[in-house]
Amino acid sequence: MLSTPQLADEFKGRVIGPDDSGYDEARRVFMGAFDRRPALIVRAADAGDVARVIALARDRGLELAVRSGGHSSAGHGVSEGGVVLDLADMRALDIDVEGRTAWAEAGLTAGEYTTAAGEHGLATGFGDTGSVGIGGITLGGGVGFLVRKHGLTVDDLLAAEVVTADGQLLRADAESHPDLFWALRGGGGNFGVATRFQFRLHEVGTIVGGPLFLPATPDVIVGCVAAAAAAPEELSTIVNVMPGPPMPFLPEEHHGRPVVMGLMAYCGAVGDADRVLAPFRELAEPVADLVRPIPYPEIYGPEDPDYRPIAFARTGFADGVDRRLAETILERISASTAMMAATQIRVLGGAMERVPSDATAFAHRDKRIMVNVAALVPSADALSQQESWVAGLLAEVTQGDAGAYVGFLADEGEDRIRAAYPEATWNRLRQVKAQYDPDNLFRLNQNIPPASG
Ligand SMILES: Cc1cc2nc3c(=O)[nH]c(=O)nc-3n(C[C@H](O)[C@H](O)[C@H](O)COP(=O)(O)OP(=O)(O)OC[C@H]3O[C@@H](n4cnc5c(N)ncnc54)[C@H](O)[C@@H]3O)c2cc1C
Repeated sequence: MLSTPQLADEFKGRVIGPDDSGYDEARRVFMGAFDRRPALIVRAADAGDVARVIALARDRGLELAVRSGGHSSAGHGVSEGGVVLDLADMRALDIDVEGRTAWAEAGLTAGEYTTAAGEHGLATGFGDTGSVGIGGITLGGGVGFLVRKHGLTVDDLLAAEVVTADGQLLRADAESHPDLFWALRGGGGNFGVATRFQFRLHEVGTIVGGPLFLPATPDVIVGCVAAAAAAPEELSTIVNVMPGPPMPFLPEEHHGRPVVMGLMAYCGAVGDADRVLAPFRELAEPVADLVRPIPYPEIYGPEDPDYRPIAFARTGFADGVDRRLAETILERISASTAMMAATQIRVLGGAMERVPSDATAFAHRDKRIMVNVAALVPSADALSQQESWVAGLLAEVTQGDAGAYVGFLADEGEDRIRAAYPEATWNRLRQVKAQYDPDNLFRLNQNIPPASG
């Protein structure tokens, strides 16, 4: 039994046990299906605290959950009966405007970082949601609104500070611990706790972005994917086929009925945006067109801090979307019994594709499209009812491509973790794991077992 008052003296940050006020709030993660009760939560104040939590978990043989933004689809940010190392109070950000770089502590969210960098007209690309932690998204890869122009988040990672399983604070970059640096860029939380990241910043001031709602027809879906692939790299898109949200800007007849919501982010010259976006707008009369010049940080819309979705979701890659597949997607979305069901299509390429596949642990560089199929349900009991619907539609969309993006994996077993890494990447990751975490202390994650022998 861990004594919280006794342990509190050992840490600079807050120590929260099951009897403390704020325990329920502190154990909550983003995905609503996870209701786990850790023995202890430490909100680390600095790298010293991080090292002490690691030592505590290691010495007492406790499961260790490492959490930055808490958005893991597998619920890896919280342990049942173990220790949670929560980095959310470590959110210092030091921007070098002249040098176009930033040191960011891992507890920052993508939205916080983007807002602060945006004040200087600068940005690093993260994902599509502001509340996602920079810790998890960076270590997984990071596919977002700048992916075609500037690549993945890891492509802008210049260095990281990491506390390893033996408590050492290491700097990993191209010169120092290069193997660790390679592994951190896509290998997830397997190698240590990242306390700080150094990112490259790009000039991204006003962009033309926002949602474009189009009628959900097979031709519109096919056309959107083709237009996204043909667009200049300055345009990254996320196309969702989903029921229209009951929002005032959407005519009522579309509420709850399938629509195509294309999230547009054009970071080229504002004056060119109409021309670049015309192929989408010409597909059909838009149902609602909210695409407009905005400061880049506004691409992250407001979020309800109490939103805790319960979803069955699966991810994969696809080569293209033809008319037959578009018809299937529409039929399945219309027939879904879930509270909300969506197919998300992200056309990749551009800067992401130009990085050699062995340069980072994110190796799926040549994939053309990333897809997610998700079904939202009212309670965790209803999750299993959606499994076959989600898996069935994913199989239609991916057409035999067995690859996966580690950042979107739920708790799906070893085969799916392996699907995130081609054989050579997997073997190299296992070697690096054996070097930095031979006893697999960091195992509550998309786990890469240490190479043996
Ligand atoms: C609503 C939503 C939208 C998303 N959109 C995108 C998107 O557009 N693009 C994209 O690429 N991904 C996206 N993701 C996936 C997201 O990148 C991953 O779930 C990511 O792991 C979340 O990071 P986190 O820090 O918030 O999560 P956490 O649950 O805190 O962390 C997830 C795991 O990462 C590891 N980890 C986190 N921080 C550290 C650290 N500092 N040191 C060591 N290990 C650590 C741990 O293993 C941890 O279990 C989205 C997820 C959600 C829920």
